[in-house]
Amino acid sequence: MTTAWIGLGANLGDAVATVRSALAALDRLPGSRRVVTSSLYRSRPLGPADQPDYINAVAALETDLLASDLLSHLQRIEADHGRIRSGLRWGPRTLDLDILLHGDTISSDARLTLPHPGLCQRPFVLYPLHEVAPQLAIPGHGVVQALLAGCPPDGLDVIASA
Ligand code: ATP
Ligand code: CA
Ligand code: CA
Repeated sequence: MTTAWIGLGANLGDAVATVRSALAALDRLPGSRRVVTSSLYRSRPLGPADQPDYINAVAALETDLLASDLLSHLQRIEADHGRIRSGLRWGPRTLDLDILLHGDTISSDARLTLPHPGLCQRPFVLYPLHEVAPQLAIPGHGVVQALLAGCPPDGLDVIASA
């Protein structure tokens, strides 16, 4: 079993409902169990600014799935929630599921980079992680608690429990 951390984000339609539905979909993954979930947060969009705020959360799974198989499942869950890959990086989307960490795997593969490259700079990832796992070690980067110092919250708000 490996602990995999998933970052969830949504900014089209009923984003709170979408994130909750995605969490329920994670519970249905084969060989996996959701063990930790952060609160839901509201954040300002990265990239194009003319799009709605995001709803974000993080969750940890205990899983037998290989990282590449987990990514395929996450992409299917995104598609099930109406995600259309427009080609616009960081553009609006109904649902975005990123693998933040898969155990202590380090990978620079373009299809699956681990730890996720944005993890250490993004308040909407670091603050939810800090809520549930302040001592979590990010391979190559130190513990979450220490990374917060270089990452202002930037208008991030807790809006609800998951
Ligand atoms: P970012 O990755 O900067 O958060 P994004 O989530 O908007 O941007 P997407 O369009 O969702 O980017 O994904 C682009 C590609 O990123 C996917 O096709 C996927 O193969 C690749 N990818 C690389 N590493 C990861 C990872 N750790 N988790 C999810 N996707 C990843
Ligand atoms: Ca993302
Ligand atoms: Ca993504």
